[in-house]
Amino acid sequence: MQFKDIEGQQFLANRLTEIIDSGRISHAQLFLGPTASGSLALAIAYAQYLGCENRQHYPEGSALRADSCGVCPNCRKYAELVHPDLHMVFPTTTTATVTSKPCAEDFQEEFRDFMQECRQVGTEDDWYVRLGVENKQGMIREKDADNIIRTLGLKSYEGGYKVLVVWMAERMNLAAANTLLKTLEEPEGKTLLLLVAESRDRLLSTIVSRVQQVVVPDRGTGLSAGRREEFSNLFVSWMRLLFKLNMKPLSDWVDRIAATGRETQKLFLQYAMESLRACFLKTAAGIKLGDELEFGDPKFDQAFPAMIAPGNIAQMNEALNETLFAIERNASAKIAFMQLSFKMSRYLRIKK
Ligand SMILES: [Zn+2]
Repeated sequence: MQFKDIEGQQFLANRLTEIIDSGRISHAQLFLGPTASGSLALAIAYAQYLGCENRQHYPEGSALRADSCGVCPNCRKYAELVHPDLHMVFPTTTTATVTSKPCAEDFQEEFRDFMQECRQVGTEDDWYVRLGVENKQGMIREKDADNIIRTLGLKSYEGGYKVLVVWMAERMNLAAANTLLKTLEEPEGKTLLLLVAESRDRLLSTIVSRVQQVVVPDRGTGLSAGRREEFSNLFVSWMRLLFKLNMKPLSDWVDRIAATGRETQKLFLQYAMESLRACFLKTAAGIKLGDELEFGDPKFDQAFPAMIAPGNIAQMNEALNETLFAIERNASAKIAFMQLSFKMSRYLRIKK
Protein backbone atom coordinates (compact mmCIF):
# COMPACT_ATOMS: atom_id res chain seq x y z
CA MET A 1 0.00 0.00 0.00
CA GLN A 2 1.37 3.38 -1.00
CA PHE A 3 0.12 6.65 0.45
CA LYS A 4 -0.89 7.81 -3.02
CA ASP A 5 -3.53 5.06 -3.09
CA ILE A 6 -5.23 6.24 0.09
CA GLU A 7 -7.87 8.82 -0.65
CA GLY A 8 -8.41 11.94 1.36
CA GLN A 9 -5.60 11.48 3.90
CA GLN A 10 -2.70 13.39 2.33
CA PHE A 11 -2.33 15.67 5.30
CA LEU A 12 -1.83 12.78 7.70
CA ALA A 13 0.30 10.88 5.17
CA ASN A 14 2.67 13.84 5.06
CA ARG A 15 2.94 13.89 8.83
CA LEU A 16 3.73 10.17 8.88
CA THR A 17 6.45 10.30 6.23
CA GLU A 18 7.95 13.28 8.04
CA ILE A 19 8.14 11.29 11.29
CA ILE A 20 9.97 8.48 9.53
CA ASP A 21 12.33 10.78 7.61
CA SER A 22 13.23 12.55 10.84
CA GLY A 23 14.06 9.22 12.50
CA ARG A 24 11.78 9.93 15.47
CA ILE A 25 9.92 6.67 15.14
CA SER A 26 7.98 5.55 18.15
CA HIS A 27 8.04 1.78 18.61
CA ALA A 28 4.36 1.62 19.46
CA GLN A 29 1.64 3.62 17.77
CA LEU A 30 -2.12 3.65 17.79
CA PHE A 31 -3.92 4.53 14.56
CA LEU A 32 -7.28 5.65 15.83
CA GLY A 33 -10.20 6.19 13.49
CA PRO A 34 -13.20 4.56 11.84
CA THR A 35 -12.26 1.60 9.63
CA ALA A 36 -13.62 3.43 6.59
CA SER A 37 -11.14 6.25 7.21
CA GLY A 38 -8.32 4.12 5.84
CA SER A 39 -6.61 3.72 9.24
CA LEU A 40 -5.38 0.20 8.47
CA ALA A 41 -4.17 1.20 5.00
CA LEU A 42 -2.29 4.13 6.55
CA ALA A 43 -0.61 1.87 9.11
CA ILE A 44 0.52 -0.48 6.36
CA ALA A 45 1.64 2.34 4.06
CA TYR A 46 3.62 3.71 7.02
CA ALA A 47 5.39 0.39 7.58
CA GLN A 48 6.04 0.02 3.85
CA TYR A 49 7.54 3.51 3.69
CA LEU A 50 9.75 2.70 6.67
CA GLY A 51 11.22 -0.33 4.91
CA CYS A 52 11.31 1.13 1.38
CA GLU A 53 14.76 1.04 -0.19
CA ASN A 54 14.14 4.01 -2.44
CA ARG A 55 11.81 6.50 -0.76
CA GLN A 56 10.46 9.07 -3.18
CA HIS A 57 10.36 12.75 -2.27
CA TYR A 58 8.24 15.15 -4.29
CA PRO A 59 8.70 18.84 -5.05
CA GLU A 60 7.41 21.50 -2.68
CA GLY A 61 3.71 22.12 -3.25
CA SER A 62 2.88 18.53 -4.23
CA ALA A 63 -0.10 16.99 -2.47
CA LEU A 64 2.18 14.31 -1.05
CA ARG A 65 5.64 15.26 0.19
CA ALA A 66 6.92 11.68 -0.09
CA ASP A 67 5.92 8.08 -0.66
CA SER A 68 7.40 4.61 -0.90
CA CYS A 69 8.67 3.67 -4.36
CA GLY A 70 6.29 0.78 -4.95
CA VAL A 71 8.86 -1.25 -6.91
CA CYS A 72 11.73 -2.22 -4.60
CA PRO A 73 11.65 -5.76 -3.14
CA ASN A 74 10.32 -4.43 0.17
CA CYS A 75 7.46 -2.56 -1.52
CA ARG A 76 6.58 -5.50 -3.75
CA LYS A 77 6.27 -7.80 -0.74
CA TYR A 78 4.21 -5.22 1.09
CA ALA A 79 1.90 -4.81 -1.89
CA GLU A 80 1.05 -8.50 -1.61
CA LEU A 81 1.12 -8.35 2.20
CA VAL A 82 3.63 -11.21 2.21
CA HIS A 83 6.65 -9.43 3.69
CA PRO A 84 8.20 -11.89 6.17
CA ASP A 85 8.67 -9.11 8.74
CA LEU A 86 5.05 -7.98 8.56
CA HIS A 87 2.78 -9.79 11.00
CA MET A 88 -0.92 -9.22 11.30
CA VAL A 89 -3.24 -9.92 14.20
CA PHE A 90 -7.00 -9.38 14.06
CA PRO A 91 -10.18 -10.66 15.72
CA THR A 92 -11.21 -14.20 14.88
CA THR A 93 -13.93 -16.58 15.84
CA THR A 94 -14.78 -20.22 15.28
CA THR A 95 -15.87 -20.91 11.73
CA ALA A 96 -16.92 -23.88 9.62
CA THR A 97 -13.26 -24.85 9.20
CA VAL A 98 -11.71 -23.70 12.49
CA THR A 99 -14.00 -25.19 15.11
CA SER A 100 -12.01 -24.57 18.29
CA LYS A 101 -9.43 -22.21 19.75
CA PRO A 102 -9.26 -19.84 16.79
CA CYS A 103 -6.40 -17.38 16.47
CA ALA A 104 -5.20 -14.96 13.80
CA GLU A 105 -2.51 -17.37 12.66
CA ASP A 106 -5.22 -19.72 11.37
CA PHE A 107 -6.66 -17.05 9.09
CA GLN A 108 -3.68 -15.25 7.56
CA GLU A 109 -4.53 -16.11 3.98
CA GLU A 110 -8.21 -15.20 4.35
CA PHE A 111 -7.23 -11.92 5.95
CA ARG A 112 -4.80 -11.07 3.15
CA ASP A 113 -7.50 -11.79 0.56
CA PHE A 114 -9.99 -9.74 2.54
CA MET A 115 -7.62 -6.78 2.74
CA GLN A 116 -6.91 -6.92 -0.99
CA GLU A 117 -10.60 -7.17 -1.86
CA CYS A 118 -11.60 -4.31 0.42
CA ARG A 119 -8.55 -2.22 -0.47
CA GLN A 120 -7.79 -2.20 3.23
CA VAL A 121 -10.85 -0.20 4.22
CA GLY A 122 -13.01 -3.22 5.01
CA THR A 123 -14.98 -3.03 8.24
CA GLU A 124 -15.12 -5.55 11.03
CA ASP A 125 -18.58 -6.62 9.80
CA ASP A 126 -17.19 -7.15 6.29
CA TRP A 127 -14.52 -9.38 7.79
CA TYR A 128 -17.04 -11.62 9.53
CA VAL A 129 -19.08 -11.83 6.35
CA ARG A 130 -15.88 -12.94 4.59
CA LEU A 131 -15.46 -15.67 7.22
CA GLY A 132 -19.08 -16.71 6.80
CA VAL A 133 -19.93 -15.91 10.42
CA GLU A 134 -22.02 -12.72 10.14
CA ASN A 135 -23.63 -13.09 13.53
CA LYS A 136 -20.55 -13.74 15.60
CA GLN A 137 -18.28 -11.33 17.40
CA GLY A 138 -14.59 -12.02 16.99
CA MET A 139 -11.93 -11.58 19.60
CA ILE A 140 -8.16 -11.28 19.94
CA ARG A 141 -7.15 -13.83 22.55
CA GLU A 142 -4.23 -14.73 24.78
CA LYS A 143 -3.01 -17.18 22.17
CA ASP A 144 -2.71 -14.26 19.73
CA ALA A 145 -0.83 -12.23 22.32
CA ASP A 146 1.55 -15.15 22.92
CA ASN A 147 2.17 -15.31 19.19
CA ILE A 148 2.86 -11.57 19.22
CA ILE A 149 5.47 -11.97 21.95
CA ARG A 150 7.08 -14.92 20.17
CA THR A 151 7.15 -13.02 16.88
CA LEU A 152 8.63 -9.91 18.41
CA GLY A 153 11.28 -12.03 20.10
CA LEU A 154 12.48 -13.46 16.79
CA LYS A 155 15.13 -11.83 14.64
CA SER A 156 13.81 -9.97 11.65
CA TYR A 157 14.21 -11.87 8.40
CA GLU A 158 15.50 -9.03 6.35
CA GLY A 159 17.46 -7.03 8.87
CA GLY A 160 15.02 -4.14 9.06
CA TYR A 161 12.11 -3.52 11.39
CA LYS A 162 9.75 -6.25 12.46
CA VAL A 163 6.27 -4.84 12.09
CA LEU A 164 3.27 -6.08 13.94
CA VAL A 165 -0.14 -4.73 13.00
CA VAL A 166 -3.03 -5.36 15.37
CA TRP A 167 -6.28 -4.53 13.60
CA MET A 168 -9.35 -3.81 15.75
CA ALA A 169 -7.11 -3.73 18.82
CA GLU A 170 -10.17 -3.04 20.99
CA ARG A 171 -11.16 -6.67 20.44
CA MET A 172 -8.29 -7.87 22.62
CA ASN A 173 -9.62 -9.65 25.67
CA LEU A 174 -8.14 -8.75 29.02
CA ALA A 175 -5.58 -11.55 29.02
CA ALA A 176 -4.35 -10.57 25.56
CA ALA A 177 -4.23 -6.89 26.48
CA ASN A 178 -2.23 -7.60 29.63
CA THR A 179 0.25 -9.75 27.75
CA LEU A 180 0.67 -7.06 25.13
CA LEU A 181 1.17 -4.49 27.85
CA LYS A 182 4.31 -6.29 28.99
CA THR A 183 5.89 -5.94 25.55
CA LEU A 184 5.01 -2.25 25.56
CA GLU A 185 6.86 -1.85 28.84
CA GLU A 186 9.97 -3.60 27.59
CA PRO A 187 10.23 -2.85 23.89
CA GLU A 188 12.54 -5.01 21.82
CA GLY A 189 15.08 -3.41 19.49
CA LYS A 190 13.88 -2.80 15.96
CA THR A 191 10.23 -3.56 16.35
CA LEU A 192 7.24 -1.52 15.39
CA LEU A 193 3.90 -2.24 16.95
CA LEU A 194 1.00 -0.62 15.12
CA LEU A 195 -2.36 -0.86 16.83
CA VAL A 196 -5.33 0.05 14.66
CA ALA A 197 -8.55 0.77 16.53
CA GLU A 198 -11.85 2.58 16.18
CA SER A 199 -12.44 3.37 19.82
CA ARG A 200 -9.96 4.53 22.41
CA ASP A 201 -12.52 3.97 25.18
CA ARG A 202 -12.53 0.24 24.69
CA LEU A 203 -8.75 -0.07 25.08
CA LEU A 204 -6.99 -0.43 28.41
CA SER A 205 -5.89 3.01 29.55
CA THR A 206 -2.51 1.53 30.44
CA ILE A 207 -2.07 0.60 26.78
CA VAL A 208 -3.29 3.95 25.47
CA SER A 209 -0.83 5.77 27.72
CA ARG A 210 2.10 3.80 26.30
CA VAL A 211 1.50 4.34 22.62
CA GLN A 212 1.87 7.35 20.39
CA GLN A 213 -1.53 8.23 19.02
CA VAL A 214 -2.21 8.96 15.40
CA VAL A 215 -5.76 10.21 15.04
CA VAL A 216 -7.10 9.33 11.61
CA PRO A 217 -9.86 11.73 10.61
CA ASP A 218 -13.04 10.44 9.04
CA ARG A 219 -12.85 10.98 5.33
CA GLY A 220 -16.56 11.76 5.36
CA THR A 221 -17.70 11.00 1.89
CA GLY A 222 -14.22 11.03 0.41
CA LEU A 223 -15.37 7.98 -1.52
CA SER A 224 -13.51 6.01 -4.14
CA ALA A 225 -14.83 6.32 -7.69
CA GLY A 226 -16.21 2.78 -7.52
CA ARG A 227 -18.00 3.40 -4.23
CA ARG A 228 -19.41 6.66 -5.52
CA GLU A 229 -20.83 4.94 -8.59
CA GLU A 230 -22.33 2.20 -6.46
CA PHE A 231 -23.91 4.78 -4.16
CA SER A 232 -25.21 6.98 -6.96
CA ASN A 233 -26.93 3.97 -8.56
CA LEU A 234 -28.39 3.03 -5.22
CA PHE A 235 -29.55 6.58 -4.62
CA VAL A 236 -31.13 7.06 -8.05
CA SER A 237 -33.07 3.80 -7.83
CA TRP A 238 -34.18 4.69 -4.30
CA MET A 239 -35.49 8.13 -5.26
CA ARG A 240 -37.37 6.67 -8.23
CA LEU A 241 -38.99 4.10 -5.95
CA LEU A 242 -39.96 6.84 -3.51
CA PHE A 243 -41.83 8.70 -6.23
CA LYS A 244 -43.77 5.62 -7.27
CA LEU A 245 -44.06 4.30 -3.72
CA ASN A 246 -44.42 0.81 -5.07
CA MET A 247 -44.07 -1.34 -1.96
CA LYS A 248 -42.57 -4.56 -3.25
CA PRO A 249 -39.58 -3.04 -5.11
CA LEU A 250 -39.09 -0.55 -2.29
CA SER A 251 -38.92 -3.33 0.26
CA ASP A 252 -36.43 -5.14 -2.02
CA TRP A 253 -34.34 -1.98 -2.07
CA VAL A 254 -34.42 -1.79 1.73
CA ASP A 255 -33.36 -5.44 1.93
CA ARG A 256 -30.47 -4.65 -0.36
CA ILE A 257 -29.11 -1.82 1.77
CA ALA A 258 -29.82 -3.74 4.98
CA ALA A 259 -27.65 -6.58 3.69
CA THR A 260 -24.57 -4.33 3.53
CA GLY A 261 -22.54 -3.59 6.68
CA ARG A 262 -23.23 -0.77 9.12
CA GLU A 263 -20.24 1.21 7.84
CA THR A 264 -21.56 1.06 4.28
CA GLN A 265 -24.99 2.17 5.43
CA LYS A 266 -23.50 5.11 7.30
CA LEU A 267 -21.39 6.12 4.31
CA PHE A 268 -24.40 5.86 2.04
CA LEU A 269 -26.42 8.15 4.33
CA GLN A 270 -23.60 10.68 4.35
CA TYR A 271 -23.42 10.41 0.58
CA ALA A 272 -27.19 11.04 0.37
CA MET A 273 -26.88 14.17 2.55
CA GLU A 274 -23.99 15.49 0.50
CA SER A 275 -25.83 14.82 -2.77
CA LEU A 276 -29.04 16.50 -1.61
CA ARG A 277 -27.05 19.51 -0.49
CA ALA A 278 -25.45 19.69 -3.95
CA CYS A 279 -28.89 19.47 -5.61
CA PHE A 280 -30.22 22.19 -3.37
CA LEU A 281 -27.31 24.53 -4.05
CA LYS A 282 -27.70 23.92 -7.76
CA THR A 283 -31.38 24.87 -7.93
CA ALA A 284 -31.66 27.35 -5.08
CA ALA A 285 -28.45 29.27 -5.58
CA GLY A 286 -27.22 28.25 -9.02
CA ILE A 287 -24.00 26.97 -7.46
CA LYS A 288 -22.66 23.86 -9.08
CA LEU A 289 -20.45 21.70 -6.91
CA GLY A 290 -17.98 19.21 -8.41
CA ASP A 291 -18.85 16.81 -11.23
CA GLU A 292 -18.42 13.93 -8.80
CA LEU A 293 -21.74 15.00 -7.29
CA GLU A 294 -23.60 14.34 -10.52
CA PHE A 295 -25.49 11.04 -10.48
CA GLY A 296 -24.26 9.86 -13.87
CA ASP A 297 -27.83 9.43 -15.13
CA PRO A 298 -28.58 12.32 -17.50
CA LYS A 299 -32.37 12.20 -17.10
CA PHE A 300 -32.13 12.09 -13.34
CA ASP A 301 -29.40 14.75 -13.19
CA GLN A 302 -31.64 16.97 -15.28
CA ALA A 303 -34.88 16.56 -13.34
CA PHE A 304 -34.08 15.60 -9.76
CA PRO A 305 -32.30 18.68 -8.33
CA ALA A 306 -35.45 20.76 -8.90
CA MET A 307 -37.27 18.53 -6.41
CA ILE A 308 -35.02 19.69 -3.59
CA ALA A 309 -36.29 22.99 -2.25
CA PRO A 310 -36.09 25.16 0.87
CA GLY A 311 -39.30 23.50 2.05
CA ASN A 312 -37.89 19.99 2.22
CA ILE A 313 -34.10 20.02 2.38
CA ALA A 314 -33.93 20.58 6.16
CA GLN A 315 -36.44 17.82 6.91
CA MET A 316 -34.66 15.41 4.62
CA ASN A 317 -31.36 16.16 6.26
CA GLU A 318 -32.82 15.63 9.68
CA ALA A 319 -34.37 12.31 8.67
CA LEU A 320 -31.07 11.11 7.17
CA ASN A 321 -29.19 12.21 10.27
CA GLU A 322 -31.62 10.44 12.60
CA THR A 323 -31.17 7.26 10.60
CA LEU A 324 -27.41 7.62 10.81
CA PHE A 325 -27.63 7.82 14.61
CA ALA A 326 -30.00 4.86 14.71
CA ILE A 327 -27.59 2.74 12.65
CA GLU A 328 -24.73 3.77 14.92
CA ARG A 329 -26.75 2.59 17.88
CA ASN A 330 -27.25 -0.80 16.18
CA ALA A 331 -30.90 -0.30 15.32
CA SER A 332 -32.39 -2.69 12.78
CA ALA A 333 -31.27 -1.40 9.39
CA LYS A 334 -34.43 -2.73 7.74
CA ILE A 335 -36.75 -0.82 10.02
CA ALA A 336 -34.60 2.32 10.00
CA PHE A 337 -34.38 2.48 6.20
CA MET A 338 -38.06 1.66 5.75
CA GLN A 339 -39.09 4.48 8.10
CA LEU A 340 -36.64 6.78 6.38
CA SER A 341 -38.11 5.87 2.99
CA PHE A 342 -41.62 6.81 4.06
CA LYS A 343 -40.43 10.15 5.40
CA MET A 344 -38.34 10.93 2.35
CA SER A 345 -41.21 10.02 0.05
CA ARG A 346 -43.44 12.49 1.87
CA TYR A 347 -40.82 15.26 1.82
CA LEU A 348 -40.14 14.77 -1.87
CA ARG A 349 -43.72 15.78 -2.57
CA ILE A 350 -43.19 19.20 -0.99
CA LYS A 351 -42.35 21.37 -3.96
CA LYS A 352 -41.63 24.78 -2.44
ZN1 LIG B 1 10.24 0.78 -2.15
